[in-house]
Amino acid sequence: MDRYCVFGNPIGHSKSPLIHRLFAEQTGQALSYEALLAPLDDFAGFARGFFAEGLGGNVTVPFKEQAFQLADQLSARAQRAGAVNTLKKLADGRLLGDNTDGAGLLRDLAVNAGFSLSGKRILLLGAGGAVRGVLEPFLGERPKALVVANRSVAKAEALAAEFADLGPIMASGFDWLDAPVDLIVNGTSASLTGEVPPIAASLIEPGHTLCYDMMYSRQPTAFCQWAVEHGARAALDGLGMLVEQAAEAFLLWRGVRPDSAPVLAELRRQLAAG
Ligand code: NDP
Repeated sequence: MDRYCVFGNPIGHSKSPLIHRLFAEQTGQALSYEALLAPLDDFAGFARGFFAEGLGGNVTVPFKEQAFQLADQLSARAQRAGAVNTLKKLADGRLLGDNTDGAGLLRDLAVNAGFSLSGKRILLLGAGGAVRGVLEPFLGERPKALVVANRSVAKAEALAAEFADLGPIMASGFDWLDAPVDLIVNGTSASLTGEVPPIAASLIEPGHTLCYDMMYSRQPTAFCQWAVEHGARAALDGLGMLVEQAAEAFLLWRGVRPDSAPVLAELRRQLAAG
């Protein structure tokens, strides 16, 4: 059986095995997919051991930068993101590193939410790995303006400088902004502790602005609750991004794009059931 996995630490609550099992059933692909707890002090050795047999692996916290270092060859989007969330063993045994997080978010917005970024004013909150990964695909859609706001402003400034060749990108602190935007994406981990980045409610134009939290949880996240309270057109969580980044990885590995909608619906059902 062709072997795939997700590497992480911790990894116990990963939804990737369920997602890929559902993709495999749906597309009639014979494969196994397991969650592997990689040691914090030897990700590279552990991953090499898996790839003696295994064909592909997803990579999650905290190994995406180490997977970037491990890959023998990088896709353009992984190179630009500086992080790898998908590894594929090539025919000659070398490892290709890709990053499907940004494409996954873009697809969730474009296909599932029907939102086009072209010509829009976009605010991205956070300047960590997740935000870095979406900058290239977002700027590729030609937004009117893209602002990266972060608690540590210097990190937002560094990202804006690094991606300035790709489009109209600016850096900001959270409380420097007040004019309404079309889309706010929360790429901070503030929702983990039930916090909302301290941004002005006037950034939401009631009935118009779409809000998106990369995080997801059984109950609406703190950011999604804040968005609804202030009249956002919709407040979406990151479950769709998770399923879509997995679909991109499945496509890379198997050459078949699964239909993500029924898989997302099943995950949503299971999340609600607890
Ligand atoms: P990082 O650790 O790389 O970055 C964390 C970011 O959050 C930094 O910008 C940090 O700011 C900011 N931050 C942390 N705590 C707070 C707070 N209390 N208030 C304001 N800002 C805060 O994390 P990632 O970029 O890897 O992940 C970010 C989020 O995206 C996570 O919640 C993760 O679960 C989610 N994610 C979801 C995916 C999906 O498929 N749905 C995929 C990838 C990530 P500072 O620089 O000032 O420290």
